[in-house]
Amino acid sequence: MDAPVISWRERASALRIDGRLVIDGQRRDSVAGEVFDCVSPIDARVLGTVARARAADVDAAVRSARAAFDDARWAGQPPAARKKVLLRFAEKMLAARDELALLETLDVGKPIGDSLSVDVLSSARTIAWYAEAVDKIYGEVAPAPLSALALVTREPVGVVGAIVPWNYPLLMTAWKLGPALAAGNSVVLKPSEKSPLTALRLAEIAVEAGLPPGVFNVVPGYGTEAGEALALHMDVDAIGFTGSTRTGRRMLEYAGRSNLKRVFNELGGKSAVLVFDDFADIERAAKTVAASMFYNQGESCNAPSRVLVHESVADRFVEIAAGCAPSHQPGDPLDAGTRMGAIVDETQLKTVMGYIEAGVAEGARCVTGGRRAREETGGWYVEPTVFDRVGNGMRIARQEIFGPVLSVLRFRTEEEALRLANDSVYGLQASVWSDSLNRAHRVARALRAGTVHVNQYDEDDITVPFGGYKQSGNGRDKSLHAFDKVTELKTTWIRIDPA
Ligand code: NAD
Repeated sequence: MDAPVISWRERASALRIDGRLVIDGQRRDSVAGEVFDCVSPIDARVLGTVARARAADVDAAVRSARAAFDDARWAGQPPAARKKVLLRFAEKMLAARDELALLETLDVGKPIGDSLSVDVLSSARTIAWYAEAVDKIYGEVAPAPLSALALVTREPVGVVGAIVPWNYPLLMTAWKLGPALAAGNSVVLKPSEKSPLTALRLAEIAVEAGLPPGVFNVVPGYGTEAGEALALHMDVDAIGFTGSTRTGRRMLEYAGRSNLKRVFNELGGKSAVLVFDDFADIERAAKTVAASMFYNQGESCNAPSRVLVHESVADRFVEIAAGCAPSHQPGDPLDAGTRMGAIVDETQLKTVMGYIEAGVAEGARCVTGGRRAREETGGWYVEPTVFDRVGNGMRIARQEIFGPVLSVLRFRTEEEALRLANDSVYGLQASVWSDSLNRAHRVARALRAGTVHVNQYDEDDITVPFGGYKQSGNGRDKSLHAFDKVTELKTTWIRIDPA
């Protein structure tokens, strides 16, 4: 007999939220006993309460992480043993796939189908990928004279503070955790106050998988309380931050005001897409760009939000992109068929609507969307929106909206397209659409961005670095390059005397 089909809504109402901190492998209340409400953007329902960590809690977490690092309970294990634990961690994440996906969807409003097939899967794969690297990375022997042996080895930096945003709570956590744990560090993670649930559960799963207590601690709370305390802590060796450029600046200040800890910032973006008239399949370009823009409600740092299209194909591009809107209308995030869900909270909804109003006021043409949706649910939803005739000086062309709003600008020459594309304080990603091999390479080289996609968008994977030029940050997540952020290079120069 088939098992009864339980709907995601039924599962959601049966879910019990545990919002307590995870320190030393244990759940505990905050020192002051303070909590904050965890509100679902789906319908503004309070899901439960979450511990509000402050400096005393952060200090307890850092002490626990330091003790774990100093007695080498993790870094001192043979690489093969650490690999085994991390692989088990990834397997257990997959075993808890439904629960993690449900928590993620309830917490941030993304469609359950995406939470299942992208967020949880990619996060588990990230942990497994770094697990596999643990016993495959070698040190170096330098080309020293015969009178010496010179070794260059990598050592874990120590206690890593990770501060992450709300748009991909699990995945951003996995990008920080994977390399940090694989290299032997201890981690104190501060999830966003808007999305603390999956990180807390993840810390429990890690302990179940055999990660020693104290190696991975989670302190939920507000940025100016828990985040600031972590970034200012004198016993944190490195901060891996992902979030806004505004907060990234603060991270650098905190380091300067405390122990000069290493700071790696993964920040905002306003990624430019350049569509040339020599690209034959305008339909594929427009559909791909629209789908990437509306994915995750437009709440993606690398969203292709600034689309530069050659004037001769711009009308067609806009028509096709706008034609994608009906299939991305916001729906119930707990419905498996929904492609676009809720905006994370009312503040972000107001920000997005403010940008839409600014676009109209500054003279851009709103071709489709532009309004709130599903207000009867009590939640926060915005229609997929396309603006045409956008000027590069307008706010919707310059600032990160972080909502489902696509801006189309027109250009006449390759030179003009490049000038417009690079005229931004950001440099996270870009994309070139051209059937000319020469043009695609030429333009890709000239774009000031950490990743350039050619004739596709966002199809890359964990094997390549992710990060930005200019005010989109420094350092790189993903790939083996991520180890640069969580390790120190040590030189050992050994003298060898002649016989
Ligand atoms: P945010 O900067 O407001 O918050 C990010 C984190 O920093 C949260 O945990 C928050 O609590 C904490 N924080 C906020 N103020 C702080 C302070 N004064 N001191 C210490 N910590 C503080 O960003 P957000 O709104 O959560 O996330 C959206 C931003 O993240 C966007 O700009 C987006 O582009 C960026 N992002 C970048 C990447 C990337 O890889 N480059 C990936 C995802 C998101």
